[in-house]
Amino acid sequence: RPIIDIDHISKQYDSGTVALNDVSLQIEEGEILALLGPNGAGKTTLISIICGLVVPSGGTVRVGGHDIRRDWRAARKMIGLVPQEIALEPFETVIDSVRFTRGLYGEGPDEAYIEQLLRSLALWDKRQARTRELSGGMKRRVLIAKALSHRPKVLFLDEPTAGVDVTLRREMWQVVRELRAQGVTIILTTHYLEEAEDMADRIGVINRGELLLVQSKDALMGEFGKKR
Ligand code: ADP
Ligand code: ADP
Repeated sequence: RPIIDIDHISKQYDSGTVALNDVSLQIEEGEILALLGPNGAGKTTLISIICGLVVPSGGTVRVGGHDIRRDWRAARKMIGLVPQEIALEPFETVIDSVRFTRGLYGEGPDEAYIEQLLRSLALWDKRQARTRELSGGMKRRVLIAKALSHRPKVLFLDEPTAGVDVTLRREMWQVVRELRAQGVTIILTTHYLEEAEDMADRIGVINRGELLLVQSKDALMGEFGKKR
């Protein structure tokens, strides 16, 4: 069965804005799915609902079989979220920042895992640096380490390369590929077609709250290829 099962999700905010309209989608373990769409399409709303941070107006989401609303704690443990905004404690060290997030999930210390995690993100040498001393790319990698601190099965990346330069963008893509090699299921949002093509196994196109199309990258590129 899919690791994430999104079943007829809708969301209307109190302001009246319909951010999502009857979205259904299944995500298989180990895949990389890109949600591609312009600003305001509903991408952040959708991942916020899957992560249990926004309550849908209708529909259900199951993560690893756990209903995100009825069984929030179990579902949440399976998920790591890298938010769009970089929010780090400036005077905290890298390693303490990651330990702290792990603690929030009620997990006991596991220094061996944290070392492995920081090494895999090329942060081990910077573990005692304060987060304010880090470059933008390193800060983003710290956010990923925090999101993975409790060993989730699924990682959400909300616009991982919004507002970053080409070099950093490629660095992020490399990180994502390495995570996938470790078996992490990844869902990312983007408004760059190139990014979706480059990173994802499947692309879901979302616009004005509707999931218009979900296709494997190869099928999607094949379609475009034929028309040329
Ligand atoms: P994105 O970059 O995903 O388009 P936005 O810049 O639209 O995000 O929104 C940034 C934050 O403001 C989000 O947390 C979103 O939930 C919130 N937000 C966006 N639009 C509104 C709105 N009309 N009313 C209240 N909050 C909003
Ligand atoms: P995206 O991530 O694709 O940019 P969002 O999910 O942030 O899209 O926003 C979808 C729509 O919902 C937009 O019209 C946005 O302004 C609106 N919206 C987002 N968050 C809020 C909020 N907290 N309150 C009201 N409207 C919101």
